[in-house]
Amino acid sequence: MQRRSFLGLLAGAGALAVAPFRPALAAPPASIPALAKGMVSLTFDDGIESVYKYALPVLKRRNQIATAGLIASRLTSNNNDYMNVAQAKELAAAGWEIASHSLTHTRPISIPKYYSQEPVTGWSVETRNPSLYQTQYDYDIIAGIYQDGKPLVEVEKLEELGAHPGLYYYDRPIAELHVHPWRGGPPEDLDIRAGSYQRELELSHQILTDLGFKISTYVAPYNYWPDDMKETSKYYYSQACTGKDSDNRAASFDPYAIRRFMAHEKDSTTSLIRLIQENALEHGGWVIFCFHGVGDSIGWEPYSVEKLDALSAWIAQQGIPMVTVDQGARIMREAAGAPARVSKNATPAVKRRS
Ligand SMILES: [Zn+2]
Repeated sequence: MQRRSFLGLLAGAGALAVAPFRPALAAPPASIPALAKGMVSLTFDDGIESVYKYALPVLKRRNQIATAGLIASRLTSNNNDYMNVAQAKELAAAGWEIASHSLTHTRPISIPKYYSQEPVTGWSVETRNPSLYQTQYDYDIIAGIYQDGKPLVEVEKLEELGAHPGLYYYDRPIAELHVHPWRGGPPEDLDIRAGSYQRELELSHQILTDLGFKISTYVAPYNYWPDDMKETSKYYYSQACTGKDSDNRAASFDPYAIRRFMAHEKDSTTSLIRLIQENALEHGGWVIFCFHGVGDSIGWEPYSVEKLDALSAWIAQQGIPMVTVDQGARIMREAAGAPARVSKNATPAVKRRS
């Protein structure tokens, strides 16, 4: 198993910082021919319930649509901070795009990257109870523990582990993982796996698709997007929103590194409008904003309903096309002369084993 690297951790810490607020690029534009005014997209990350409650009605009033990036495990978690499936379906029915924002919202440096790195080894039987096993676990975060493809449930205390099979306990400070597996036997035959980023990409797509959503866009959690995971995402998605500094213009469009501007709680409507003026109106570019919660205190830097309403009104009044990420990416590809891309959804380079 890959040891965690402190260089990797440092790189990750740097990536936590939000994308810098940059002025429009000075280079001459390659504008979208049919779109003299460019395009605008609003994206809402994490599937916070306030997006359903407040952003949907604001945009609906002006027949505007947006993209919601949902964390598959939280959509089905019964946690009221997050939208449930019925609410997400209402968004989709109103024309919104539902995108995947991963399975558990982790970074690929915190968990195994590929299915091939998922097996957890080195198990020993615990002396106090022979149905329990333990091993050293070397990644920072656990994004699911599986045996024979079936998830184990996390317990808060080591003492709770004996209750019944199908449980795990992670003693994070000493990096010790304890399991009560579904199926016992020799420690070397347990086939216990720790969820990888490849699983995050694939399973979130599968869960959302099985719920009836049409998924083509991946929105990278924390806008963290290393090149290897960008390549892996091509097996499952047609495009990905990231924190990369591409300019979202036809001539240089990279569908797997679609750039977004972070909308911070304190950003005025005027400052967001200025970005649209400089990038979309003046250069025919595609401006995508990244919001989280709207109108209450839940979620990262929630944006006020009033400011969102003012932004929505200004965009409508200016007649700037408002598109989902999926629509915008199609238009950009056409403008660049490339055929619309369909995600391969074929056998990935690293095969899935459970
Ligand atoms: Zn997020």
